[in-house]
Amino acid sequence: MKNYIKPIIIDNEELAEGVYATGSGDHANCWSITYEIKQRNANPYDPFVNIRIKGEHTAMHTSTALEIKVLFDKEVTSAVFDFGGFDCSVSGDTVVLKRNNHANGYGSLDKFDSNLRIVTNSPDVINVVGIDWNCIQG
Ligand SMILES: [Zn+2]
Repeated sequence: MKNYIKPIIIDNEELAEGVYATGSGDHANCWSITYEIKQRNANPYDPFVNIRIKGEHTAMHTSTALEIKVLFDKEVTSAVFDFGGFDCSVSGDTVVLKRNNHANGYGSLDKFDSNLRIVTNSPDVINVVGIDWNCIQG
């Protein structure tokens, strides 16, 4: 049994553009995923943060699902991911994006580039502290 070591990616303001994250699942290296905080709206009547998330599947294998966990340092109230086909759920400080049957064919080069909008009580200070994902097979 493999030891599970969860990677934590520290968000640095100076490196905010195109921050790379690393997966820790059985197929950790097959996705390249970056994020960038694009907009913070601190209006208390409509507080949100827009985060652009880009992903590209660079491996040559079949897969039945992709699951991405975006971990924040503050609580998230709700979230919407604009890219079609993803289920988006929130639990505390974690947003989970899941899509079934991504790249469900050998050699398919899957990719997405879309906006994740989170609603939070801390739009001016909340940050991403880590992104983890798993390319699920079988
Ligand atoms: Zn994969």
